[in-house]
Amino acid sequence: MPVGTQATVKGVMQRDLAGELDAKIILANTYHLFLRPGHELIRGLGGLHRFMSWPRAILTDSGGFQVFSLSDLRKITDDGVLFRSHLNGDAHLFTPESTVDVQFALGSDIMMPLDECIEYPASHEAAHQAMRRTVAWARSAYHHYQRHIEESASDTALFPIVQGSMYRDLRRECACQLVELNAPGYAVGGVSVGEPRSLSLEMTEATVEFLPRHRPRYVMGVGMPEELPEYVARGVDMMDCVLPSRNARNGYLFTSEGPVVIKQARYRDDASPVDPNCSCYTCVTYSRAYLRHLYQAGEILFSSLATLHNLRYYLDIMRQIRQAIVQGTFRTYLHGVRNRALE
Ligand SMILES: [Zn+2]
Repeated sequence: MPVGTQATVKGVMQRDLAGELDAKIILANTYHLFLRPGHELIRGLGGLHRFMSWPRAILTDSGGFQVFSLSDLRKITDDGVLFRSHLNGDAHLFTPESTVDVQFALGSDIMMPLDECIEYPASHEAAHQAMRRTVAWARSAYHHYQRHIEESASDTALFPIVQGSMYRDLRRECACQLVELNAPGYAVGGVSVGEPRSLSLEMTEATVEFLPRHRPRYVMGVGMPEELPEYVARGVDMMDCVLPSRNARNGYLFTSEGPVVIKQARYRDDASPVDPNCSCYTCVTYSRAYLRHLYQAGEILFSSLATLHNLRYYLDIMRQIRQAIVQGTFRTYLHGVRNRALE
């Protein structure tokens, strides 16, 4: 899922997201939209889909992760999180119920409950406490969501989030308790918080085995291109990551031949496309030399063209994976990716 934190995938028009990139679902962020422009304003303008002119699916993150990483003076109690806006210092309280209400106001297709995403590394005791709170909040959020769904006939989904830091026993305990909610899908949170990448994969594996196979399983905030098939191999259906879009803006382009760091002098007069195996608008239209020039000159077009390419690269990988699964060749595909990584 491309990440559209502020109701926009930075530098990409919705026309290109749906057309050129054919993204089926994007992610938006409850914390940011709650603070600015406000969920009631968005509700008044017909919900997030109409507000941002995006007719396809939207998943909204509950804001827990941003509260813990961005806001000042946060105070966590069993009731919720009291925090100060990173924009103007105003005090706000997020509770399991209030974040569900905000996401209903936005009109999300898939909403996430408030969770406590703990930093890495964390002691077993601290991780256990955060995990227990996450389960309690998920239950409150889920029951609140169910009451609302019954009243409104909405078909929004809510995916509880498994926490447990880097401890297998906590991951298992959290997953097993959340599965009792019989939710339409589940998420693995608390990975990609600074731990080694192999550990993110290991914790995902230790979590996913306890989640129902016939429901979507979503790992939050991963990964590098070569990791995508590794997550899929472990039973993951959905992922989101800011890497393709953020790296694009920083001049780091993912290609089938390895990364292209566009500011390097070697691309100064390079007439070839960013990725000769890519058929995105950027690659079929422009040279590395032109893109390097735009980057060096600080031109805003660079961000748009680079983001378009990087997102296309990620989405093409997912399309290849889906095709391999349908054709029964995923194992071969995975071995090919692993062998290339070793080269
Ligand atoms: Zn391209």
